[in-house]
Amino acid sequence: MKLYLDPGHGGTDSGASGNGLLEKDITLDIALKINSILNNDYENIEVKMSRTSDSTKSLSQRTNEANAWGANYYLSIHINAGGGTGYEDYIYSGISDTSTTASYQTIIHAEVLKTNQLRDRGKKKANFHVLRESKMPALLSENGFIDNSQDAALMKQASWLQNVAEGHVNGLAKAFNLKPKSTGPVSGTLYKVIAGSFKSKQNADDRAAFLKTKGIESFVVSTIISGETWYRVQAGAFANRENAEKSVTALKNAGITDAFIVSENSSEGGGGTNGGSPGGQDNQPPIATPTGLSILGPTLLSPELMNAFAKKVNPNAVEVGNYYLTFGDYYGIRGDVAFAQALHETNYFRFTGIVKPEQNNFAGLAATGQGNSGASFKTPEEGVLAHLQHLYAYAATNPLPAKYPLVDPRFNLVTRGSAPTWTALNGKWAVPGSNYGQSIIDLYGKMIDSSVQNLETIRQGLQ
Ligand SMILES: [Zn+2]
Repeated sequence: MKLYLDPGHGGTDSGASGNGLLEKDITLDIALKINSILNNDYENIEVKMSRTSDSTKSLSQRTNEANAWGANYYLSIHINAGGGTGYEDYIYSGISDTSTTASYQTIIHAEVLKTNQLRDRGKKKANFHVLRESKMPALLSENGFIDNSQDAALMKQASWLQNVAEGHVNGLAKAFNLKPKSTGPVSGTLYKVIAGSFKSKQNADDRAAFLKTKGIESFVVSTIISGETWYRVQAGAFANRENAEKSVTALKNAGITDAFIVSENSSEGGGGTNGGSPGGQDNQPPIATPTGLSILGPTLLSPELMNAFAKKVNPNAVEVGNYYLTFGDYYGIRGDVAFAQALHETNYFRFTGIVKPEQNNFAGLAATGQGNSGASFKTPEEGVLAHLQHLYAYAATNPLPAKYPLVDPRFNLVTRGSAPTWTALNGKWAVPGSNYGQSIIDLYGKMIDSSVQNLETIRQGLQ
């Protein structure tokens, strides 16, 4: 199933506006979320988007592109205006009620209304360009009124945008019989728990001996990565990923913070999914050199110490340390090192590069230069959430835990698990970036030094 997904308006065409909102921003946000969910959760779908950023594109460019690509369905996302309230959707006026197009509308209309908290204004028909000129069945949805204060209040919530996206996805899944990605273990896959990987056999043997004192059985196996021999301490192998993760947690509780999982497929049957495989189940996680500080790990510095360090250089720095702690804890990411990364990206929150302070984009997400200043987030909190989600995409292979909506627009573009350490981000997060991770680690070292100094001052005041 090939879906052409069209966030309405964009670039010089803002669409409708009201209550401090622009239609083009909301349609893009919803569409990106739809794209993320489809890629994350369903197998037999391919999505092409008319735009993935705030760019200008004419209506005929959009329909020409969908037609040339041979899309099976055209879905256009819009926000209404003009003094009403509620949800409605449209198919082309020249189409009968018994058509396939109308049956898709019925299904999607019902699913979207289940999740969007909006009044039902009905299934409608209109002579809109994208409905008329697209050669495949097409639907245009109008998701609330931007000039209605109640509808607009919903549009300001990331959770509502996520719900609207999910409603559309549920409708598409029903209408086109989309196959959910399996979440269970892929048969023939073995998840090996590695409790440390070392260049020195002695260190590996020492680790195995230490584990024995904790009652954990393990053995040392040698493996060759990028032409170099490594000694891995293997502490179990499981057919079920969850059990392997439980074992990693147990190791962490025993003080082994550098444990990780390697999945190995038995020879036949690989290649089930094409490309990226965001679920990561049938990919051998690319093991970058497992040295250096891991991205996953505890946040050791307090929000106060983080903020104090930023303010030493920039007294006006935005105070986001608490978000780095909260979201860092939730995703199991070193929030204080992520904070150092934000300092590096934003020049101590002075935003002296192409990203502007009001974008709340602390990690240069989707900022590629050439006039593209990257993603924008509604609040500093959402910006930090996106940053940590992007790190999670690199450092972990599990699906994103569900407590917070996915706000990182590029989560699904990351090869999952491809950077377990900060230095492994070199050339991935920042291009060119042969020294990117080291710069972050250096800054983190300075944060620690400064924090020690602060604590020492307090220590002396105790006398
Ligand atoms: Zn519109």
